[in-house]
Order: sequence, then C-alpha cells, then structure tokens
Amino acid sequence: MNARDNCIFCKIVAGQLPSRKVYEDDDMVAFHDIHPKAPVHLLVVPKSHVDSLADCGAGEGEVLARMLLKVPELARAAGCTNGFRTVINTGPEGGQVIYHLHLHVLGGPRHEWKGTLP
Ligand code: 5GP
Ligand code: ZN
Repeated sequence: MNARDNCIFCKIVAGQLPSRKVYEDDDMVAFHDIHPKAPVHLLVVPKSHVDSLADCGAGEGEVLARMLLKVPELARAAGCTNGFRTVINTGPEGGQVIYHLHLHVLGGPRHEWKGTLP
C-alpha cells in the first residue's frame, strides 16, 4: 500500500477530508491547524506527498521554495500584522506526528510561543 493512501494531509489535499482552507494553487494547500497553538496557526502542505523534510531532494526544491515564499502573504492575510513563526517538525525526535511534509505558520497578538511549540 502506498504511504499516501492513509495520509490525512493527502486526503485534505484531495478534498476527501474537510479543512478550513485559506489558500490553494497547483503546488500547495494551506489550511488552519485543527488544534491551534497560537491565535493564528496555519499548515502549508505540498500537494505531492513526501514524508518529511528529511526525504526531500533536489526534486522538491522548487515547491519548498514556493511554499516558503508564500508564507508571509498567508500570515498577513490571516492577521499576523507584527511577525510570525515558521516551524517544520522532522522525524520522531523532531516531534513530527503527521508524515506528510508540512510547514507550521504561527502568530497573532501576544501569543506566548515559548514552550508551546507545535
Ligand atoms: P506535526 O506534529 O506533525 O508537525 O504537526 C501535525 C499538525 O497537524 C498538528 O499541529 C495537528 O494539530 C495537525 N492536525 C492533525 N490532524 C489534523 C486534521 O485532521 N486537520 C487539520 N487541519 N490539522 C490536523
Ligand atoms: Zn500525504
């Protein structure tokens, strides 16, 4: 069985699971985290399944760059007027729970992010 057959984020990308989407293009989807750790907590995921940052190669370079470059616009549109934080958890000791690469975007007024890493 293919890894993506049971992948929550592949199902969100395919519209088979609901999500609060804020952005979508040919490469990526961005949606609200179901358990927000800050007033703004978005996830940005590539449409094409890759398990983690550690599994990325040159072939993922362009989409990774596009995702990262989209973040400021998404953060601003979500209400982050004074900065934001980006996090990519990778592997068991990196705290990764969902094995479909994703980028966290966290922000919002006065959110106490220390000790509340996603
Ligand atoms: P990780 O710990 O793998 O870096 O982050 C996974 C994130 O996905 C967590 O912040 C968790 O709250 C979020 N998450 C897990 N399942 C779902 C879901 O079904 N929908 C949404 N929108 N977020 C999810
Ligand atoms: Zn997936």
